[in-house]
Amino acid sequence: MTAINVVTDLTREGDVALLTIDSPPVNALSADVRNGVRDGVAQAAADPAVKAIVVICAGRTFIAGADIAEFGKPPKGATLPELQSTLEGGPKAVIAAIHGTALGGGFEMALMCHYRVAVPSAKFGFPEIKLGLIPGAGGTQRLPRLSGVENALEVILSGTPFAARQALEWGVVDSLVEEGKLREGALAFARKVIDAHMGLRKIRDLSDKIEAARGRPEIFDKVRRDYARKYRGFEAWQSAMRAVQAAVDLPFDEGMKLERQAFLDLIPTAQSRAQRYVFFAERKVWKIADVADDTPVLPVKKVGVIGAGTMGGGISMNFLNAGIPVTIVETAQAALDRGVATIRRNYDSTAKKGRLTAADVETRMGLLSPGLHLDALSDCDLVIEAVFENMDIKKDVFGKLDKFAKPGAILASNTSYLDIDEIAAATKRPDHVLGMHFFSPANVMRLLEVVRGAKTAKPVIATAMQLAKKIGKVGVLVGVCHGFVGNRMLAQRQREAQKLILEGAMPWDVDRVIYDFGLPMGPFAMSDLAGLDIGWSKETSKSSTIREILCEMDRRGQKTGAGFYDYDEGRNATPSPVVEKIILDFAARKGINRRTISDDEILQRCIYPMINEGAKILAEGKAQRASDIDIVWINGYGWPIYRGGPMFYADLIGLDKVLATLRQFEATMGEDFKPAPLLEKLVAENKHFQDL
Ligand code: NAD
Repeated sequence: MTAINVVTDLTREGDVALLTIDSPPVNALSADVRNGVRDGVAQAAADPAVKAIVVICAGRTFIAGADIAEFGKPPKGATLPELQSTLEGGPKAVIAAIHGTALGGGFEMALMCHYRVAVPSAKFGFPEIKLGLIPGAGGTQRLPRLSGVENALEVILSGTPFAARQALEWGVVDSLVEEGKLREGALAFARKVIDAHMGLRKIRDLSDKIEAARGRPEIFDKVRRDYARKYRGFEAWQSAMRAVQAAVDLPFDEGMKLERQAFLDLIPTAQSRAQRYVFFAERKVWKIADVADDTPVLPVKKVGVIGAGTMGGGISMNFLNAGIPVTIVETAQAALDRGVATIRRNYDSTAKKGRLTAADVETRMGLLSPGLHLDALSDCDLVIEAVFENMDIKKDVFGKLDKFAKPGAILASNTSYLDIDEIAAATKRPDHVLGMHFFSPANVMRLLEVVRGAKTAKPVIATAMQLAKKIGKVGVLVGVCHGFVGNRMLAQRQREAQKLILEGAMPWDVDRVIYDFGLPMGPFAMSDLAGLDIGWSKETSKSSTIREILCEMDRRGQKTGAGFYDYDEGRNATPSPVVEKIILDFAARKGINRRTISDDEILQRCIYPMINEGAKILAEGKAQRASDIDIVWINGYGWPIYRGGPMFYADLIGLDKVLATLRQFEATMGEDFKPAPLLEKLVAENKHFQDL
């Protein structure tokens, strides 16, 4: 055995050389790995006793991707084009032996080899698109030559891995070998290559599948239609399409050049930087400064939910989906029946779309026990309260629940705004109380704000975070304050949106700017969707805001067919002349001189105060890191990933610019725009939120 470098070894079995990469945990394609492959393959190729070379990985996987920490840094070590000359351009057959996942650069390297064998559990894919990139070492040129253009487009644009059997069917791998016997299988395959004089099969020279797509633009048109919605605002997917198109239209080397250039052009873009930032930010949320990774977690085998309304039903579904039994409690049979029926209807509609079997629906419904009294929750390890947003009611519920819940059970509230410490004080176990703030629809939205009370015990926090992971959410730890992180910042935008429509903009102007920025909808469309009457009451309404006036007219949003917009039967919105007149009259009554407001001002007025609030949240320690705030906004409110979240966005445009604009607004419009001391400090020190 010869050590090529710290991560690669070369051995020989008869006339087959075996190059083993061993770079835990996932054999990422680091400089060491690239050097090892280049030098090891070159050494084997130069050995007259060697007739074929197998490249295999130790540990749990083949090369699982690029070393993304290297992106954007000065290049070092062997380049991927160099590997291509050594592998594909070398004199001896190279066989990639694949287990685990061959992703990104790892998959591209496998495609540079002449043959590929894999175990049935292996997976292949190009996740680059999720980082705002495209494969940059031949992936877009070689894969279509094996799998055909349609399949390659799907793999590259979706970023989703595909299984070994699919790879075999497409011709991406040449042979599947017995699970657990990759080494033997690869050596046997190498033997066959030598004995049958199979020679060097270079993917670059294959053209039949490429030719089949030539002159068929409809292939690309269909993909463009399929992905236009999903990738609204994203740039990389267009580059990916162009690169695959080049595989069809251009000679291989020219296609390679185009792909490489497109890849290099994407790396420094704000979008790709944002997407790579989010990738790491999502991994950081789980780390809690003062709660060690090995903090014991409490077993949660049964969950209780109080309130079977909008949130209670959705929250329950998360646990049912994870196979955890749920007891759901209401005060009246009718409300309970309605809640349970809604859960079933949701499952049935998923089943209709083919995403669940009828048996799955029954299994899940079978785990649900409805109840009408809190004593039904006495065997639950965790109870989540989702009753009306009213402190007196919540305190009453927690006081009673404390008596019925077993000792050691965790009591959580799904409150949107209320003080968790005050709720906890209604029990004798404040150390076992916390907030678990789900977002609507709770069975869909990925965000869970885990709200830490003053007395919440560390194992309780650790348990909630672990549970978040188990039910497929991103858990973000936040502190007690009005609206926690997400809604507290949202309130800033809502206030400005309301001011803007009195000062001169129309709701659809504000919504258009926010939508074009990349959010799924603007503040007024969002209000119409949620219902303008949340927190409104007929008795106390005094026509004192536009919203009150609309509610009084029974324009309560989509559900009543009218709100800020008019809606047709298909719930399509059109700007409402009625609302326009209401706004103009209201502004006139208030003596407001309406003016033309630019799109830039709308955007800055809506977003800069949010950033400013984010700075206050950080200074108060209500969020652990700026990147946690960004994860809240991406997963709870649909902030576009390619803009990295509000705090990343602020860093990108420059905190000095944000501060200067806030000061300018403050001078003309008052203290809503008073800069946060932390923002001023960061600017004075020439720092970013990311440096904190
Ligand atoms: P909802 O009105 O749809 O449901 C509340 C349910 O609680 C009702 O079915 C009611 O009958 C039931 N209920 C009231 N008192 C009860 C009691 N003492 N015991 C048992 N059941 C009782 O309200 P929702 O929208 O589901 O909101 C529930 C909580 O979730 C609120 O605190 C709200 O702020 C929060 N929340 C709501 C959203 C949202 O978008 N709707 C998002 C996040 C958090």
